[in-house]
Order: sequence, then structure tokens, then C-alpha cells
Amino acid sequence: MATFLIVPAAGSGARLKSPLPKALVPVLGHAILSWTLEALAPIPFDRVVVAAPPDRMPDFERLLRGKAAVVAGGATRSASVRRGYQALGAHPDDFVCIHDAARPLITAEEAQSVLVAAKASGAATAGTPIVDTVKRVEGERIVATIDREGLYAAGTPQVFRASLLGRAFDTGREATDEAGLLELLGVAVTAVPVSRWNVKVTSPEDLELVEALLKRRRKD
Ligand code: C5P
Repeated sequence: MATFLIVPAAGSGARLKSPLPKALVPVLGHAILSWTLEALAPIPFDRVVVAAPPDRMPDFERLLRGKAAVVAGGATRSASVRRGYQALGAHPDDFVCIHDAARPLITAEEAQSVLVAAKASGAATAGTPIVDTVKRVEGERIVATIDREGLYAAGTPQVFRASLLGRAFDTGREATDEAGLLELLGVAVTAVPVSRWNVKVTSPEDLELVEALLKRRRKD
């Protein structure tokens, strides 16, 4: 039984207002993707596949220097993950861990806790309990307040037995994350709470936060 890692890294830097793909944007002198892979390095994955923007594959290959296979990503995150999965040629009993390149603050301990949960149940995702009061807004008008009890913001890592993930992809259905795809099949997915530091770099403010936290971790 092997354990693989897929890192979707094919997003653009548009929302960061960067000409570089988001995963290559530097923080403290290293690409976001390098920080993410370094955070997960203590976990002995059998193979690592990174999905890169198709027109930037040589840049990613140069950065990764053979430490991970690079595949051409797709037009959406989920298409990129599928391409990574196809490249693995996983056996049904293997486990596949998916982690966004854009979440460099994950810790190996947190990822390990998601792996342990998935190995027990077949499917698990990291998430953070929602602490704010959640409103549904149409235009400027609040139309509903959603009870936050039991609400989680789903993130990554997400880990699945390959047989379940393959079955989910075979349906051809779409969801915003792979856990959602498995839920559509009626598969129970375990939610594993992780720190709120596991932000996804989306806006320039996120970059400031990530830089400050990585600086602090370097000192510790
Ligand atoms: O766009 P967003 O920040 O939600 O993307 C989450 C992760 O998915 C990022 O690491 C990004 O690089 C990746 N992604 C991808 N292929 C796309 C879009 C996003 O691999 N087409």
C-alpha cells in the first residue's frame, strides 16, 4: 500500500496581482510551492506529483529538480487534481493525499493527523471550525443567518483511499473539492480540525500573513 501526494499548483497569480503563477510567488526568498513541499517533507510519500500551468512546466521542473513529477494542470483546480491522479497510476488500496500549493502553513503533524483519519475511515479532510456568524447575502441585503454550530471551512490536505477517489472521478460529476465529490457518492468523509493558520494564499493580505508566520517559525 503506497501513499501519494498530489499538489495542485496550476492557479494563476491574478488575484495576487502577480505575473507569476501563484505557486511561484516568492515569500522570504522561496516560492510558495517550496514552502508547502518543505512543510510536508517529513511525511514519506512514495511519489509526489505537482500540477503546474501548462505553459510554465519548465519553470516548475527547474524549481523541483526531480523531487516531484510535474504534470500539466487543467482549467480548474479539480481538473488539475484529476490530471495528477491519472499520472499516479494508483492501485485501489493506495492512499492519495491532495494538498493545495497555496497552503504553505500546513504542518507535517496536521497532515499526518488527516492521513491517520483517512487510513481508518477511507476518506478525510482538514478543516477549521467556523467562528464567525455566517450570513447569506443577496445584493447588499442579508437574507439568512446560518447556524454556525457544526460548520467547518474545508481546506486541504484531503486524503482518500484511491479506490474511492477513482470512483468519484469516474462519475464525471463536479464539486469544489474532492471531499465533496465523495460525499455525492454517499461516502462518509471524516473532518479533521486543523489550525486557522492553514490559510489559502488568495489575496495580497494573505501573503503578508504567511510571510509574518513563516518568519516567526524560522526563529522558533
Ligand atoms: O484558485 P485557488 O486558490 O482556489 O486554488 C487552490 C489551489 O489549486 C492552488 O494551489 C492553485 O494553484 C491550484 N489550482 C490548480 N489548477 C487550477 C486552479 C487552481 O492546480 N486551474
